[in-house]
Amino acid sequence: MKKFGKERGIAIWGPLDPPEKLGIRGTYVAVDWDICEGCGVCLEVCPVHMYEWMETLGHPTSEIKAFPVRELDCVQCYTCENKCPVQAIRITFGGVQGWDRLVVLLMFLQIIGGVVYGALFGPYFGLEIPLYVGWIVLVVSLPFFFSPQIYYPKKGKPRKEKSFIDTTALVDSGTYGIVQHPQILGGILMMSASILISQHWLAAIIGVPISVW
Ligand code: SF4
Ligand code: SF4
Repeated sequence: MKKFGKERGIAIWGPLDPPEKLGIRGTYVAVDWDICEGCGVCLEVCPVHMYEWMETLGHPTSEIKAFPVRELDCVQCYTCENKCPVQAIRITFGGVQGWDRLVVLLMFLQIIGGVVYGALFGPYFGLEIPLYVGWIVLVVSLPFFFSPQIYYPKKGKPRKEKSFIDTTALVDSGTYGIVQHPQILGGILMMSASILISQHWLAAIIGVPISVW
């Protein structure tokens, strides 16, 4: 569809012919206002209160619509998409956005740098027990970090011919039965392992704030 500008920072997709034809609001959480009946289910079920009401006087289907005002806060639980009685919602993973990209880059540099340093030169302080614990933590972190790749293709029932990340079912078994975001836990464990293996102050200065964040 063609983009017709923005409303409160949210994209409007057309064709448009208001008040009868209002098109779609949102990109990552896209709501088809020409289908939306204003039932309120999506506002009730969203765990991050992403939606707000907007008035659409004169529209034949309903005169209030769900507006995806904070679409970048969406955690892709797909509840609204699955519960909408008229299938007016389509969720798309928007990828890592804004400052998160810098943090993810620093995280990978910390992990790779610390582990390679420790493997090549040995731990900075030469402490053996933390070194061994670090390698164990690194191994334990792997199934958590690669949880999407392990569980989404089967349990998440991704849409046909789409990426495995485009799931249609909630995954709550395996590592997802232990923690809501296993990949984040895996990242924290990897950064901890990098600190223990390298025992270098630089790994700690980068890894500890990112883990807390
Ligand atoms: S659940 Fe669907 S029909 Fe109901 S308000 Fe939300 S988008 Fe509209
Ligand atoms: S997918 Fe989940 S988090 Fe995202 S808007 Fe829908 S209910 Fe909210």
